[in-house]
Amino acid sequence: MTGSDDEPLLCADGLSTHYTTADGVLDRLLGRGETVRAVDGVDLRLHAGETVGLVGESGCGKTTLGRTLVGLLEPAAGSVTYRGTDLTACSRAELRELRSEIQYVFQDPLSSLNPQLTVAEIVGEALDVHDVVPPARRDERVRELLETVGLRAGHATRYPHEFSGGQRQRIGIARALAVEPEVLICDEPVSALDVSVQAGMLNLLADLQDRFGLSYLLITHDLSVVEHLADRVAVMYLGRFVETGPTAEVFDDPSHPYTEALLSAIPEPDPRWDGDRIVLEGPPPSPTDIPLGCPFHTRCPRVLPPAPFDLDGDEFRAVLSLRTRLAEADADAGPAALFPHADERETSPAAIRDVYDIPRQLSDSDADDVLATALEAAADGNLETARTRLVSTFETPCETTEPALTPGPASHPIACHRFDDRFTDDTDATRSGTQSTDE
Ligand code: SF4
Repeated sequence: MTGSDDEPLLCADGLSTHYTTADGVLDRLLGRGETVRAVDGVDLRLHAGETVGLVGESGCGKTTLGRTLVGLLEPAAGSVTYRGTDLTACSRAELRELRSEIQYVFQDPLSSLNPQLTVAEIVGEALDVHDVVPPARRDERVRELLETVGLRAGHATRYPHEFSGGQRQRIGIARALAVEPEVLICDEPVSALDVSVQAGMLNLLADLQDRFGLSYLLITHDLSVVEHLADRVAVMYLGRFVETGPTAEVFDDPSHPYTEALLSAIPEPDPRWDGDRIVLEGPPPSPTDIPLGCPFHTRCPRVLPPAPFDLDGDEFRAVLSLRTRLAEADADAGPAALFPHADERETSPAAIRDVYDIPRQLSDSDADDVLATALEAAADGNLETARTRLVSTFETPCETTEPALTPGPASHPIACHRFDDRFTDDTDATRSGTQSTDE
């Protein structure tokens, strides 16, 4: 992602992290199991004193990216550099030294704190490992750190279970601060907390940044947290960034359809957001089977219609949903497989149109002729014929060509063909769907 001109503290270049679903060593050796491409070719820049928000649905790869940056996971490809040093090429000793500069604050404060240790031992352990203070100063430093995060010095002798969720999160932050890092990677820092204590935690993070000049990578599914704290935001979908830029700019002019959908779901809508809630169809595809082309095309409300037809975006989205269902359905299952309820009695072409919100007549008559023959085949139980007919006729560039991150209308990078002249000769026209915030 593009940042300011000064040298970044932390960089990722072409960073990928993959897993296998294989269970045991033998399965892995035999190449069984599928590859999960949790992070796929990500570039990231984090500057001194800056906060970058990393957002996306659960499972989009944000936690995996954070853990790879801090060295908890091995990258499959790419590099991580801290102040110009490639962490992926360091010796163990060098890494140990450098990694104290990048600390991770875990999402679940209770499971990340050893229940057998007192707070003084938990925070003091970090001081000992990195020789931060002489042993004689250790207890005093622990008390200072607890007070820094809004706890009392007297809390040092207690155990994690004696604290509330918010207090435990503060202990986790004190432990991270013990080694005097420059970068904190905060994974969902408030999602496990009561709403009543979330604001206090966000204010603490802001205060600590002011006092110590910390840089934050803020991993969250909550865009209101990002709006509160982050200078820049990176929106992640299936392991890739789809839109990155200054937070105010992205929130003012969310250009990627996925960002629009995320923003529309903020519980108390941003006053600048004047669109309706955008509900995406179904869950994201599996990261073991990422769709070709634009990974978002199976759910995108603004997917580009094929060039030969003069189709409305909503019409094409509906046809594409039918096509996706035809691809997933068992070819021998008959037309009932296209209906949400197994006991559906009427399986006529008109009934299929109704279920998929396809108008009784598409605005382009040539397109409607093709659709009508496909629907007749589907209603007769020839699902494979119907699918082939729709695939060969209604192919969108969104499913054949992967979009690169390139500057969009507000100049920040977006991975979407709607802003690529090769695929649309009238960008504004492609943006005039029902959920537009652009007019
Ligand atoms: S490239 Fe196509 S499918 Fe992907 S976000 Fe843009 S319009 Fe939607």
